Amino acid sequence: MIPVITIDGPTASGKGTIAHRVGQALGWSVLDSGALYRLTALAVRDGGIDPADELAVASIAGRLDVCFDGGRIWLAGRDVAAQIREEPIGNLASQVAAYGPVRQALLARQRAFRRAPGLVADGRDMGTVVFPDAPLKIFLVASVQARAERRCKQLKEKGFSANLAGLLQDMRARDERDRSRIHAPLSAAPGAKTIDSSNLTIDATVDAVLDYWSR
Ligand code: C5P
Repeated sequence: MIPVITIDGPTASGKGTIAHRVGQALGWSVLDSGALYRLTALAVRDGGIDPADELAVASIAGRLDVCFDGGRIWLAGRDVAAQIREEPIGNLASQVAAYGPVRQALLARQRAFRRAPGLVADGRDMGTVVFPDAPLKIFLVASVQARAERRCKQLKEKGFSANLAGLLQDMRARDERDRSRIHAPLSAAPGAKTIDSSNLTIDATVDAVLDYWSR
């Protein structure tokens, strides 16, 4: 069976960066599952779909015309890698990710990323739902303050405006929505190793994951 390392955790806990670095170190593919929810949100917004219409949103999710190509993400022929990182899209993604039919529509697409020699998959339910047989499951956490500060810095570096108080508020709301939803609520998978990255550098966090893998 092709091995998978799952990295789940709350928003801005550093999952994406860590997943890419671990993928690079092992020479494995990487799945950014949050991007699929963000792409769904963008397609919903651009298509003028009512975000409250679960089935219409699920239908969009099932028909996403997506191509991941290095750092680029194409949606229907448009490079939307930067656009899907905007906060309103993240918030809409979190809203539509609560719908069971949307999660179902994206399941097979996520599993198709499992390719030899291995996959590092980052998200909220990689270890609990999408790859429950993964030999290593990581639950990556960080304090809400540390996460909001990181997100603020990231947004400013990319030239977006950012306000720490607003980000803290949005992040708490998103955490609450991700944890309390009925379908695939955010929680550590059974047997997952929890890493708190609040006071760890990126290198130290990557080393902690690789250390678990080599045991
Ligand atoms: O990880 P990221 O912040 O890009 O994900 C955007 C949103 O998509 C999250 O707030 C979460 O609600 C949702 N998501 C999810 N399951 C995943 C990945 C992301 O519900 N596996």
